Amino acid sequence: MTANTAPDAPDLLDLAPLGAGHFARIEDKIASLMRTRETVVTMQGEALLPLEAAIRSAVRPGSTALNIITGPYGETFGGWLRSCGAEVITISAPFSGAVGAEQVAEALRAHPEIDFVSLVHAEAATGNTNPVAAIGEVVRAHGALLMLDAVASVGAEPLLTDEWGVDLCVIGGQKAMAGPAGVSVVSVSARAWERIAANEQAPRRSYLSLLDWKERWIDGGRAALPHAPAQLEMLALEQAVDRIEEDGLEAVMARHRAAAAAMRAGVRALGGLSPYVVRDEDAAPVATTLRAPDGRDARDVVAAALAADASVPVQAAAGPLAKEMIRVNHYGLDADREVVLASLAALGEGLRALGVPVADAAAALTAAGKAWDAVIPG
Ligand SMILES: *Cc1c(COP(=O)(O)O)cnc(C)c1O
Repeated sequence: MTANTAPDAPDLLDLAPLGAGHFARIEDKIASLMRTRETVVTMQGEALLPLEAAIRSAVRPGSTALNIITGPYGETFGGWLRSCGAEVITISAPFSGAVGAEQVAEALRAHPEIDFVSLVHAEAATGNTNPVAAIGEVVRAHGALLMLDAVASVGAEPLLTDEWGVDLCVIGGQKAMAGPAGVSVVSVSARAWERIAANEQAPRRSYLSLLDWKERWIDGGRAALPHAPAQLEMLALEQAVDRIEEDGLEAVMARHRAAAAAMRAGVRALGGLSPYVVRDEDAAPVATTLRAPDGRDARDVVAAALAADASVPVQAAAGPLAKEMIRVNHYGLDADREVVLASLAALGEGLRALGVPVADAAAALTAAGKAWDAVIPG
């Protein structure tokens, strides 16, 4: 160890190389977590890599894509779809809600030529979640491919990739899995591979290429890795899945559900703020977004809350929503009763410091605690 390394730092160097067999076992664990029997590709980068790879592999000039926008990631997908030469039909839902399967069915009826649908499951940035089971059914009936960004839902709420007919499902480890951000996985259905193989524009000999992984890794029986893997990230991803397995996926999802229920109940009892996502069933278990009090800037509320308790996972929304939306993250290790109550307490103190009238903080904490306990009885 060098003199610059903290004495309690984990040993990250000089590990035995991560072999193909171990890499394949990690993939199998993730596939099982994603409830898929289709092939998975573990891309050696953050989740935006497989999201872009999936779109560029499956979409080409002449494609018509239905892009469902319920938060900031959907907007990013629209740009990629257009740059692949696709005609893009857009459905936008207000970030305070979710898209409905009937809206999707209507768009598919109006544009029978749609052959690709992109959807985000849960949006950590805007706090909403979409009914993928119902949407998957109408997309499958229509015959289009369905790509799902499940980065913010995996581990936080049910994700049934095959049962829901998701052809390209992307996950990352950095949210509810409490794992690393540097590697991510996309499942690819047999239907999707057919489409990708027929796409002359699909990336090849490229970091964005799913076909490279298929030819060099999957078709060879996963016997030899195409290049040196991101070993530390892969090992961390394995530990994250193993820990979910040990704790039980149901229990991990229940913690996330309880966190959202507690935060929403607590804020309603507190006053001043209100849940940004109106209906409970549209609220993502991964994070709760809040509407700033009338005439107040959300960034001031966040600063006041952090002044009260700098440790809580409270932040202002990014981009154009920064003025009106406060985001309380409760994923991974923060899907925790104490963390949620501390976040609520800090928000209450912050509002009081700003002179915003709020109800008794103790009553709000009691309401939040009760909502948590209704999901996970103490
Ligand atoms: C977090 C997240 C990602 C990954 O983005 P990062 O900002 O790098 O964490 C992708 N999609 C969704 C829906 C997410 O919530």
